[in-house]
Amino acid sequence: METDVVIIGAGCAGLGAATALRDAGLRCVVLEASGRVGGRAWTTRPAALGGVWFDMGAVWFHDAEHNPLVRIAEAAGDELLRSDRVRTERTYVGDRLATAAELAAYDAAWPRLEAAADAMLADRKDVSLADVARSLAADPWAATVEAWEGPVICVVDSDRFSARDWRNNALGGSNLVPQGGIGAFVERRCAPGLDIRLNTPALRIRWGEAGGRVAVDTALGTVTAAACIVTVSTGVLAAGALRFDPALPAETQDAIAGLPMGLALKVALRANGPDRLDLPAHCSVDWQVAAPNDALMPFQCWPFGRDYVQGWVGGSTAWELARSGEDAAVDFALSQLRRLFGGRVDRLFGGGGRLVTHWDSDPWFQGAYSYALPGHAGARRQLGEPLADGHLLFAGEACHAGFASTVAGAWISGQDAAAIAVQQFSLWRSSPLHRHGRA
Ligand SMILES: Cc1cc2nc3c(=O)[nH]c(=O)nc-3n(C[C@H](O)[C@H](O)[C@H](O)COP(=O)(O)OP(=O)(O)OC[C@H]3O[C@@H](n4cnc5c(N)ncnc54)[C@H](O)[C@@H]3O)c2cc1C
Repeated sequence: METDVVIIGAGCAGLGAATALRDAGLRCVVLEASGRVGGRAWTTRPAALGGVWFDMGAVWFHDAEHNPLVRIAEAAGDELLRSDRVRTERTYVGDRLATAAELAAYDAAWPRLEAAADAMLADRKDVSLADVARSLAADPWAATVEAWEGPVICVVDSDRFSARDWRNNALGGSNLVPQGGIGAFVERRCAPGLDIRLNTPALRIRWGEAGGRVAVDTALGTVTAAACIVTVSTGVLAAGALRFDPALPAETQDAIAGLPMGLALKVALRANGPDRLDLPAHCSVDWQVAAPNDALMPFQCWPFGRDYVQGWVGGSTAWELARSGEDAAVDFALSQLRRLFGGRVDRLFGGGGRLVTHWDSDPWFQGAYSYALPGHAGARRQLGEPLADGHLLFAGEACHAGFASTVAGAWISGQDAAAIAVQQFSLWRSSPLHRHGRA
């Protein structure tokens, strides 16, 4: 098959690129390894949770005021849930609720950690998030904020995490949830009308063919195109299952190595009775982390009034639990809840439905999302650098600086890569190879 641009992956980046190429009047084909579109934006209706919609991966449109997917949802008239307006919060110190003074100190610790990072980064290339937190060792809440910003939000332990990457991607604004789930939104609003070939893994990308053309080999045949946009995760790229011929340049390989995949594990537990642990609906539960590197598993309890709680753990704890299996992950979640609510937890969740996510073991992802190692914040921009005059382009959450690791970053990076392909295409079209039908 021949086309103008071939895209690898039908996640937000691939769909963003394909939409931009279609709008510019170019032909494109999207090759998707799995049997569905959306990638890490994936809504299911698990029987274990009573058949309600549940996002296995992404949930929120972050920084809604600057998020291009929010504009698509609004233009289509989709309902957006303002979870940050309905959310209540409970923070524990040991087994009791934090006092008002403690909560005020907790609130103040966030900007303090950010200011400490900015001060350290002013005269150093980079430090780790752990270095920043250790500079505030006397602050009783520093380890808690460190746990939130490292393993929980950025899904990596703070000693492996670039403070510069953290600051580059600090998102403000509102967090919105599309009614029915973000994966369902992507499938409904971002995929229709595009030429997407499901169950078609790309096996090898031959770039640097005559006239700069690119050939993508699949088990079903080869697609040739003037350009190829690769949107698979850095985990997939690092695993080497998708081969490049010739091999990628050293700078690109270094960029991939500098942006490994972190892991987040969601554990959802459905209530088996009327007890709601004296918590209001849509209540976020967390606690003061006693010492650096102690695990923090915040819970979203009874989200939007539903009858389950969802714990979230990231970083090395998540990888360990993923290796140990679902029962270990559920036991871990129950042990955290037991510390706060005692034995009623076992009565409430014993025998109820449960769900554990598996982003670690899915070969098409190999983790949840990327983070930059200390010293490698610039790798995001490096990975997005066009190769071979734009005949080979990379896009995806790992390539965006500003909205890194999010659906918005993926979408924008896909659209940016498409814009380069469109710009270059007019040059290629006038080349002799193209005019003679060989390109
Ligand atoms: C648990 C979790 C929670 C998250 N929470 C949020 C959130 O609340 N808000 C937010 O904005 N973001 C969140 N994210 C991150 C967000 O989901 C991702 O950043 C974004 O979806 C990535 O999109 P992408 O297109 O870059 O990559 P992907 O979605 O990974 O798309 C790449 C596609 O390539 C396919 N593929 C892989 N290998 C091949 C191959 N050889 N050939 C063909 N196709 C291939 C994959 O199947 C996949 O469909 C979360 C992610 C996870 C896992």
